[in-house]
Amino acid sequence: MVRLIFLGPPGAGKGTQAQTVAKLHHIPHISTGDILRSAVAEKTELGLKAQTYMEAGELVPDQLILDLVEARLNQTDARTGWILDGFPRTVNQAIFLESLLERLQQACNHVVNFEVPDEVLVSRLLGRGRTDDTEEVIRNRLEVYHQQTAPLIGFYQERQQLVSVDGDQPIASINQQLNELTQRGPGTGKTSTQAPNS
Ligand code: AMP
Repeated sequence: MVRLIFLGPPGAGKGTQAQTVAKLHHIPHISTGDILRSAVAEKTELGLKAQTYMEAGELVPDQLILDLVEARLNQTDARTGWILDGFPRTVNQAIFLESLLERLQQACNHVVNFEVPDEVLVSRLLGRGRTDDTEEVIRNRLEVYHQQTAPLIGFYQERQQLVSVDGDQPIASINQQLNELTQRGPGTGKTSTQAPNS
């Protein structure tokens, strides 16, 4: 059973890789960013509440995210595996997820950490042209990532779930490393994709 968390800064390529790996294993790609963007487009109550945070490159409050993720993981298609992309994004969200998975009697196989230097991210994001991708917002999103999300690297390292991937490589090479990881199943985390501890 493939259950993966994709961790990394905005623009690291998590979404692109998650789509391919999810398709290969016939499991849902659960992106909280995509769910929120649809809610904004449909002007639902959730969307209206989330919009200002997203436009400023801030995280939306946990109360908007936690129920959404719990409901999504309880859907039938998520029983046979999943890839979480963009969640958890704070230590508080990670602690919530840990207890949710315990209740669901599920275990995540690996947390894949996509490593990409900030300069590369800025130029990638500027080229993407999404409405929340103006330079000012991009810089704020990166700062929010370093302050609030990067601590999850240590959190999952302590739990021996972290596998690091160099995200500054061609899409196909990263994809191949992820395929090797998912075909091997849960293991020691000592893989060719493991970057030296920094
Ligand atoms: P993403 O597509 O994952 O970069 O998400 C786009 C935006 O949605 C982020 O900049 C946040 O405003 C919001 N968002 C997505 N996932 C989360 C999360 N787990 N916690 C808080 N905000 C989130």
